[in-house]
Amino acid sequence: MKDSKELRSWLDGFDLDHPLVIAGPCSAETEEQVISIAHQLKNTDATVFRAGIWKPRTRPGNFEGVGAIGLEWLKKAKEETGMLTTTEVANPNHVELALKYDIDILWIGARTTVSPFIIQEIAEALRGTDKIVLVKNPVNPDLALWLGAVERFYEAGLHNLGVIHRGFSTYEKTQFRNNPEWQIPIDLQNSFPNLPLILDPSHIAGRRDIIYDLCQTALDLNYDGFMIETHQDPNNAWSDPKQQITPDNLRKITSRLQIRDSEGKGIEYKNQINTLRTQIDIEDNKILEILGKRMKVVDAIGILKKENNVAILQTKRWNKILKKMIKEGEENNLSEEFILRMYKAIHQESIIHQKKVINED
Ligand code: PEP
Ligand code: MN
Repeated sequence: MKDSKELRSWLDGFDLDHPLVIAGPCSAETEEQVISIAHQLKNTDATVFRAGIWKPRTRPGNFEGVGAIGLEWLKKAKEETGMLTTTEVANPNHVELALKYDIDILWIGARTTVSPFIIQEIAEALRGTDKIVLVKNPVNPDLALWLGAVERFYEAGLHNLGVIHRGFSTYEKTQFRNNPEWQIPIDLQNSFPNLPLILDPSHIAGRRDIIYDLCQTALDLNYDGFMIETHQDPNNAWSDPKQQITPDNLRKITSRLQIRDSEGKGIEYKNQINTLRTQIDIEDNKILEILGKRMKVVDAIGILKKENNVAILQTKRWNKILKKMIKEGEENNLSEEFILRMYKAIHQESIIHQKKVINED
């Protein structure tokens, strides 16, 4: 798959003056619920209506979606409000029904993206259509698997594509339902700057109160839009009640967001940013120079250890360095987490260096 403007032509065609907003309930529950939410969304920035019809549930026994009947409700919502519609498809049968009911955009769920076999089957079922397909990230933090799924659609002739970042599973408990791992979508954006990138803050957060912050972070990283679960009575939703917001709340959230210009205009801005970037380049060079010097000392220690037959790894000494650096970091406004990550990387490189020194001659 080659990065080109073609990938985003469907989005550019919407000609929006704000990020794309896809909103609607986690699940279609009843006809009244679908139609009422769709009408309430007319007072917001949302132009695409979402609703899950077939719900992939982690454990059996939970609400698994209303099934094909919900497609009639989506069709009606589109006719009454003019919004486009989108739903999740997870097998060729879903695709066939979604095509029959003229669903405009299909999304691929996180649990489906992990399986190249299923992705290939869905891609084959869509071959010959010009559907817009949005691929959610796989549940595990694996960029190649995510991109691989997008490529399978591209190779099946589907060139109206996009990706949805909905966070990644971890066994560890964090403040998120699904860890954002921002570096993964950033890496993806660096390789495919034209592939539309949409944030799903609802499934990252798993709760309502951080949706705004997640959306602002995404805009600061040049995301193209959002998919936000929206329900007329979130607390009583049949699935994902904690993370859904009302259409009114959605309007409040999107109106507070600061939309950044991806390039920045104005000569004054350009001059200032160039000056600051030059300063950053100078500081970056200094960092590498200092690390190079530090590594020379590390090599000298390696030789000394070899001459005295001492083990490379000296845990006590290492823990002492870490403690001291965390404190110094604090004084320089650097978080403990950052210091730990940075020193871990430095330590690994130092061990590689010393091993090399010891094995030499
Ligand atoms: C959803 O969007 O409701 C959904 C099930 O999402 P995910 O595939 O990201 O879990
Ligand atoms: Mn959901």
